Amino acid sequence: MTMTIANSLDDVLSGLANGARPIAGGTDLVVGSRQGKGALPDHLIAIDRVHELATIDVGDAGTRIGSGVTHATLMTNPTVVDSFTAIADAAALVGSPATRNVGTIGGNVMNGSPAMDTGAPLVVLNARAELRTLESTRLVHLDELWVGPGRTSAQKNELCTALVIPQQPESSGSAYVRLEYRRTMEIAIVGAAAAITLDDGIIRSAHVALTAVAPTILTVEGLAPLIGKPVDETTLATVAELASEQAAPISDLRASERYRRQMIGVMASRAVDAAARRAGGETLSVPVNRALGVGAQS
Ligand SMILES: Cc1cc2nc3c(=O)[nH]c(=O)nc-3n(C[C@H](O)[C@H](O)[C@H](O)COP(=O)(O)OP(=O)(O)OC[C@H]3O[C@@H](n4cnc5c(N)ncnc54)[C@H](O)[C@@H]3O)c2cc1C
Repeated sequence: MTMTIANSLDDVLSGLANGARPIAGGTDLVVGSRQGKGALPDHLIAIDRVHELATIDVGDAGTRIGSGVTHATLMTNPTVVDSFTAIADAAALVGSPATRNVGTIGGNVMNGSPAMDTGAPLVVLNARAELRTLESTRLVHLDELWVGPGRTSAQKNELCTALVIPQQPESSGSAYVRLEYRRTMEIAIVGAAAAITLDDGIIRSAHVALTAVAPTILTVEGLAPLIGKPVDETTLATVAELASEQAAPISDLRASERYRRQMIGVMASRAVDAAARRAGGETLSVPVNRALGVGAQS
């Protein structure tokens, strides 16, 4: 195995064109290989020193979160916390401080796990992945990027350079909640993200996506009946029912299919409630799991 350290984006794109695989924080790639999930690739190119991948820029076309931005930055960056709070909620729950300090949003997205914590927040915020080669740049919706557990539609020579998120309308809020059995070094049993826009306390738009209940992050369909309604027990019960019906979870040693299906409804309704409270101007600190007492508290 050989590893090259890239100092510029061109170095990375040339490396990928020559068959190297990118490594950012290594918290999936290296840890996975040590756990026997697969051998390390023959040629790795380290991308963590490429400064232009690690910036967050607000522009007319939306906010560009560089793929090399770490979870530790996401959970504290004012733009992310204020405008895309669900991403900060998710980043704050990833692993441990050590994992968050080196693990990146690009690695989380491109690893393609259905349990990735930033995935559902990015989906409800309508993010697209920017994929670059030496010759081309394209923006891909995330439901077209993730094609199965651990699989993306990106070509081997394509680097994810950023996640691009449109500006959210006035009176919008988002939240991500996750069921977990312990507070650190945990992977989502199930999780849910919501983005809500209100108009005088009435729902103007609603988006919900689910973590760890299908082969990829799952978008909840059929939320139109919520539009024009207040966020109350009836609307939250509708969200819970739709999420539980549409989830297709598996049973494994961490939870049964039945338990996951039941709990995803609870998580989805809590995410909608928290997102709507934020849309209404209430401050719920990051991560909302701790603020609301969802998941493990100690
Ligand atoms: C102890 C521990 C706890 C964890 N807890 C959580 C958790 O709670 N929630 C969670 O979601 N994850 C968790 N993870 C998984 C991991 O930390 C995250 O997925 C992290 O964001 C991966 O980022 P990375 O930079 O380390 O990726 P890497 O390991 O460097 O890369 C992961 C994959 O993505 C590819 N890749 C990386 N960057 C790019 C890019 N820019 N373009 C194209 N491909 C790229 C790599 O080639 C590799 O295939 C945990 C991991 C550990 C070890």
